Amino acid sequence: MVVFELDEVEIDHCLGCRGIWLDSGELELLLESVQEKNQVLTSFEIDKTSHEKKRKCPICLKKMDKVSWGKDKKVLIDKCRNGDGIWFDAGELCEVIDTVSIDRNNKIISMLKDVFRNSLTK
Ligand SMILES: [Zn+2]
Repeated sequence: MVVFELDEVEIDHCLGCRGIWLDSGELELLLESVQEKNQVLTSFEIDKTSHEKKRKCPICLKKMDKVSWGKDKKVLIDKCRNGDGIWFDAGELCEVIDTVSIDRNNKIISMLKDVFRNSLTK
């Protein structure tokens, strides 16, 4: 895992699987406006029907919940049941950002997209 720092947010990025780990609260820090936070956080929904393989939380090592996110296009992400944080598979964070109408001028979002779009094409 390597750590990127964007503003004061540390983002763990696994070079092996290209996934991204955000500690609890970091996602909120990446979203600047109250509307963005509300929009993103209220669209989380635990998906009990998913048959995707469950991942283990890198912090508490328990299996994480599958959570679907987004209104039109659902993206399945993994969320720690103890609230340690959220895991995004390769590209999922970019997909999620694309599904919500986040301010395109959000500096951190655009940096993040650059960082991961680049790392995905390597
Ligand atoms: Zn955990």
